[in-house]
Amino acid sequence: MHESLEPIYEKVVARNPGEVEFHQAVREVLDSIGVVMGKHPEYAHAKIIERTCEPERQIIFRVPWQDDRGEVHINRGFRVEFNSALGPYKGGLRFHPSVYQGIVKFLGFEQVFKNALTGLPIGGGKGGSDFDPKGRSDQEIMAFCQSFMTELHRHLGEYTDVPAGDIGVGGREIGYLFGQYKRLTNRYESGVLTGKGWAFGGSHIRTEATGYGNAFFVREMLAARDDSFSGKRTVVSGSGNVAIYTMQKVRELDGHVVACSDSEGYVLDEQGVDVELVKQIKERERGRLAEYADRRPSGKFVANRQVWEVPCEVALPSATQNEITGKEAEVLVRNGCVAVGEGANMPTTPEGVRVFREAGVAFGPGKAANAGGVATSALEMQQNASRDSWSHEFTEQRLREIMVSVHDRCYSTAEEYGLPGDYTAGANIAGFTRVAEAMLSLGLI
Ligand code: GLU
Repeated sequence: MHESLEPIYEKVVARNPGEVEFHQAVREVLDSIGVVMGKHPEYAHAKIIERTCEPERQIIFRVPWQDDRGEVHINRGFRVEFNSALGPYKGGLRFHPSVYQGIVKFLGFEQVFKNALTGLPIGGGKGGSDFDPKGRSDQEIMAFCQSFMTELHRHLGEYTDVPAGDIGVGGREIGYLFGQYKRLTNRYESGVLTGKGWAFGGSHIRTEATGYGNAFFVREMLAARDDSFSGKRTVVSGSGNVAIYTMQKVRELDGHVVACSDSEGYVLDEQGVDVELVKQIKERERGRLAEYADRRPSGKFVANRQVWEVPCEVALPSATQNEITGKEAEVLVRNGCVAVGEGANMPTTPEGVRVFREAGVAFGPGKAANAGGVATSALEMQQNASRDSWSHEFTEQRLREIMVSVHDRCYSTAEEYGLPGDYTAGANIAGFTRVAEAMLSLGLI
């Protein structure tokens, strides 16, 4: 880290005690942007970095709800409205027992620069709850979503703050949240949430967008090295929305997906993972991936092991933060991995990133590689604002163009700063400078 930034980092740690994921995300950005500070002394004068590390607003609230047996539960809800220099706060909601302020802040911080990288007019925020949806009935999920929105709605608005999904929040939850928002406000304000169903203001491709976008991004990274997905053994972690559509698109691009995972282990299928079957088990039946092996003879389920031990040329982590440490990265490199695209947010630890960089692996950081999800959310907002609805083909074409432009922005920024091929530096610098320029223009607010 550039020495002028060290005291800033230390202050962030001191002001946000115990929030280790947030510290990690800040550190990663500060590690990259030292080179910018020499060129832009006005950023230091206006304390742009200190301001980007402090959320504009943080909301913590009680979420009381009743389960099917009549027992009352209390969860904690969060929304961190991080930065609105480029547009309304935009970012997902995560429902998972691991959620606390530090996770929401790390995700919100990443979101600011990711959203900036898309080139679209969206600020950054994130929210969620420590609610665990696992094993809950549909009625319980609805009760929770309604209670969550009853408090959160006063902070939202299509020009103010626009949530979407993340881990544990998909189309069903967005539907319940939107229904409650509409009821509380008596407004059909479609643009207040994204990831809505097609029938009530949603966009084609939004469900697929994060996964498709990651595949498009990695295709561009490979193309920049005169390479392609063609025939490449690919391993994807996770089996949720991001993983499923990543696998689907990689197959279309002629890659060979041999493994994916859930919290209990991984599926290895040398014939190629049957994406429809994974979708059937995980999405429709809300079941366990272990069942895959019972239904497909070529599939093998390996319990309680990390999917990264499966040799591959392309690795697409699409589960959660810090799933590839230095150790896993070394195994991947040893087994011949040449490209990594982060479908999840911050799935690789700093040590893992270092191992990939030193081995010359093409590494697409989450804030670039998975930006397709939020970019398509911005396209959904565009359709809502113009009371329009685009075709599947047109929306996918827009997503493809955006991912190519995100790739090119990272690539050319890294070149400009003398760091060719370093997508992490390129993404952090390009995202940060766009936000910094807007903040300077808006004055001290
Ligand atoms: N949760 C997604 C992300 O991490 C999407 C956010 C959005 O669409 O607002 O970028």
